Amino acid sequence: MAPPNGIAYQRGQYVSVSEVSIPLLDPAFTKSDSVFDVVSVRDSRFFRLDDHIARFLESAKYVRMAPPCSEDQMKHIAAECVRRAGFTDACVYFLCLRGQFPPGAAIADPRTCDQEFIAYSIPWYTTVPAECAQTGAHLFIAQTRRAPSTAINQRCKNFNRMDLTSAQFEALDAGAHQPVLLSIDGFLTEGPGFNCWIVRDGKLFTPRDDILEGITRRTVFDLCRMVELDAEAAQLQPEDLLSADEAFLSSTAGGVFPVTQVNGQPVGNGIPGPITCRLRDVYWDKRAEGWHATSVADLIATPESAQR
Ligand code: PLP
Repeated sequence: MAPPNGIAYQRGQYVSVSEVSIPLLDPAFTKSDSVFDVVSVRDSRFFRLDDHIARFLESAKYVRMAPPCSEDQMKHIAAECVRRAGFTDACVYFLCLRGQFPPGAAIADPRTCDQEFIAYSIPWYTTVPAECAQTGAHLFIAQTRRAPSTAINQRCKNFNRMDLTSAQFEALDAGAHQPVLLSIDGFLTEGPGFNCWIVRDGKLFTPRDDILEGITRRTVFDLCRMVELDAEAAQLQPEDLLSADEAFLSSTAGGVFPVTQVNGQPVGNGIPGPITCRLRDVYWDKRAEGWHATSVADLIATPESAQR
């Protein structure tokens, strides 16, 4: 029987997720010197797999890494991780690690390292409790600021997350589900694992700077075009969120989640808003129709060289 916590691919082998090992002196551990991406699988189909792989490769390029496998291999490995785990719904991670310094060295020239690629599937999860999709999530505007992209390029999906984790503690202490962080300049950015949106007078806005450009954020822009809603990336103040008609989160880990409280105050009239609910439902309807879907079984059946 497959281990319930998922299957990983490391060094040419498929193993249980709990068997993956990263050496103590690997800069991936000692310096968070790694990039990653996460793609979701529902009903045995990946969503926007090509887009996630493209972002993963962009992140790797930015930090001067080259994952040691082709895109076709990545797709095949991702599908194998899901199949071998026996999941129909999953989150699949791609990791590129800087790779070890010479044996025993704690620091060395990072240009000499050979990168390592790891992938793993874990059971599907959501960034806020799943029931929040109906009832709404509660956010807290944290004191901890998001590290600016001039220091850590937030468009590159990275594990430098001390700001997000500190903010998460603040939110939990305040009784909220998740924090949203402001930039150094005081503009709204994002939270751990999600982008934020507000609706004002029927128009949608999402933060523009110091964020990861989420694939779900891109999806929301696409859906807005389909249902003829105006949406724009902009510099938003905390007051824009506090006084919004509606607010929501977008994330690979769960899609679109209404936000019904910020700092203990109701957003709008305190229940999930009509535009948010429409986008949440269209998101899942489009996925059910197979929009941007890649079947796990098709990837397994297709020779790696014929994929894409
Ligand atoms: N922002 C951060 C910091 C994230 O970690 C994530 C996803 O994990 C997102 C935004 C949302 O991105 P996506 O829609 O690609 O999941």
